[in-house]
Amino acid sequence: MNKKLIKNKPWIGTIPEKCQLCGEPIEKQFVDGRDILTGHWAIMCINCFINRGSGLGVGRGQLYELEDDTYYKVFGDIAPEPGLE
Ligand SMILES: [Zn+2]
Repeated sequence: MNKKLIKNKPWIGTIPEKCQLCGEPIEKQFVDGRDILTGHWAIMCINCFINRGSGLGVGRGQLYELEDDTYYKVFGDIAPEPGLE
């Protein structure tokens, strides 16, 4: 596991409870990203991100991970790319 929480990038919206694509509960991680099937942005679980996401990065998606009751943006082992922002 090679990932890093970006502590100054907390999720500031309503904490998502369900994946907007499949309706499964969001657990430790979610992606705010573009759905390749519809072209729309959605809060998606990791399974949907793998199946339907556009990757991570500007205009594609942002990965968030829960720590201490707050979701923080994290760039991690799913699609590591330096310098995203
Ligand atoms: Zn899902």
